[in-house]
Amino acid sequence: MSVMTVGEGAGLYEMVKGIQRRYEADGQPRPELLYVDRGCCGADYRIFRGWPDMPVRLDVWHFMRRLARGCTSTEHQLYRFFQRWLSACIFAWSADDQNQLIAANRGEQRDQGIAETSDDVILKHLGKSSIARHCRRVTRGMEETIQLIGDLLACLDGEGGLDTIGVPLFDSDRVWEIWDSQQRHIACLQDPPDVQLYTKIGELVKGGITLPVYRRARGSTSPESFHLHMNRFIPGKFMSYIT
Ligand SMILES: [Zn+2]
Repeated sequence: MSVMTVGEGAGLYEMVKGIQRRYEADGQPRPELLYVDRGCCGADYRIFRGWPDMPVRLDVWHFMRRLARGCTSTEHQLYRFFQRWLSACIFAWSADDQNQLIAANRGEQRDQGIAETSDDVILKHLGKSSIARHCRRVTRGMEETIQLIGDLLACLDGEGGLDTIGVPLFDSDRVWEIWDSQQRHIACLQDPPDVQLYTKIGELVKGGITLPVYRRARGSTSPESFHLHMNRFIPGKFMSYIT
């Protein structure tokens, strides 16, 4: 269900009440988990007051965009590298899933008479989309992520973040100020332990091993695509961004 409103914050209360009434009327339990792009924690606003025990998480893409505001430009040569590593500071591939995928590919190579290669070489050739089909990602936990992001920022601050013409990736004061204020949300990025975030939608046999095919339910990618679509189909001179 999608609801389009002209307001945010308190402007959404009636819409939220309506959703909760529909769940109640239908005898459905509350959703297991809610992803938001703001207002994840703290006392500013929790609009889903009717479901006080529902876990609320911050969408990782939005969190990454907040940190990216500390960059001098999204066109900087190191910007994409920074975003990729930021994501890797938050998520790790499930080692079991990855080992199974490697074993399947090694089996396939053996069947084709190809000489054995290392795990790293196999992973490199697989590409991200193939890994994402068969492997689940898990959050690394608060402590590790705080440490890794701090290290990444330190590594790309100053000298390490200069491009070929000497432009720094970060506005140094700004990026550390943002990190100071955003660190408390690392807790809001962690997967709740009891919620199943992947659905198995199929399987395929490779190298004699049956591999599951997964679909991810984490985050707010599908509403984001819808926002992008709305942004394009609603004509308007001043509209450039909808969140
Ligand atoms: Zn938060």
